[in-house]
Amino acid sequence: MSDTIRDTVILGSGCAGLTAAIYTARANLTPLVLEGHEPGGQLSITTLVENFPGWPEGIQGPQLIENMKLQASRFGAEFRMGHLVSVDLSKRPFALNLGNETVHTRTLIIASGASARWLGLPSEQALIGHGVSSCATCDGFFFSGKEIAVVGGGDSAMEEALFLTRFATKVTLIHRREHFRASRIMLDRAIAHPKIQFLTNTRIDEVLGVEQKEVSGLRIRNAITDESSILNISGLFLGIGHVPNAKMFEGQIDLDEDGYVKTHENVFTRVPGVYAAGDVQDRRYRQAITAAGSGCMAALEVEKYLEEHGR
Ligand code: NAP
Repeated sequence: MSDTIRDTVILGSGCAGLTAAIYTARANLTPLVLEGHEPGGQLSITTLVENFPGWPEGIQGPQLIENMKLQASRFGAEFRMGHLVSVDLSKRPFALNLGNETVHTRTLIIASGASARWLGLPSEQALIGHGVSSCATCDGFFFSGKEIAVVGGGDSAMEEALFLTRFATKVTLIHRREHFRASRIMLDRAIAHPKIQFLTNTRIDEVLGVEQKEVSGLRIRNAITDESSILNISGLFLGIGHVPNAKMFEGQIDLDEDGYVKTHENVFTRVPGVYAAGDVQDRRYRQAITAAGSGCMAALEVEKYLEEHGR
């Protein structure tokens, strides 16, 4: 156990966590940011961000994250690689078990984001890293000159499919329904792209190639006719959304039926001094700018809490 008690610890280093870090650092609270297992969060594995205000030509996601990190560091935020193994929010100061040490803090901002969702097929799990990927920007390069598939019907799937056209000769976008969740602009771009072909009302039953340890195709099923067929591809990219990283808080704060942190007044959890910001608590907007906004709110509430309860 370390002797020092931190004023605030921020769990997660994506858009929400880094904005909270900038604000709490500027308030002289010397926040400790635990970077988590995906440092930089989802922006760090995306490409051009065109809708973050202030960047008329857009900015690359990793660059935006790097800028925020530099901004937070400039005011004294501390960063540490580390995963939260367990947490005790029943006593004060709160105790965060990082495995090799326990950090004590008066306040906590949960900005641990959400991780890629998988289909859950045994064949998909067996071929992760052998042709199955949840990160187009990380792995797209390996599919130069090949035919691949992307599964999903939201903006992530459209973005991945468009990005992957840089490498693949053909991208088949597989969606389980007829209608898409994706925004009109993203969907229209994908529809207009000559390398992207759409397969709607289609489910994936199996990823082929487990024995060879290399994806060779998909066994797919038409959801209307129930007809099964084989699609020959060399890679499958998942674009079917995300699951919140909040499991370690089960039983200590309220989570909803899908595991998102339940908040009231934007960022308050049911434990005073514990706030949640960004994708871990937002199932509706899930944008970089809304994550940043809620990170700011959580930071301002931390300041108020410490003013009222003392440091
Ligand atoms: P999403 O909007 O929740 O879409 C997930 C898609 O995956 C849905 O079409 C869903 O199908 C499908 N899906 C979910 N589980 C599935 C399963 N087990 N099997 C097959 N399909 C499955 O998630 P998202 O695309 O990651 O977007 C999340 C948020 O981030 C959105 O607010 C989006 O606007 C934002 N975003 C924005 C950008 C951008 O502006 N550049 C880029 C990426 C994401 P159903 O439709 O049938 O449910």
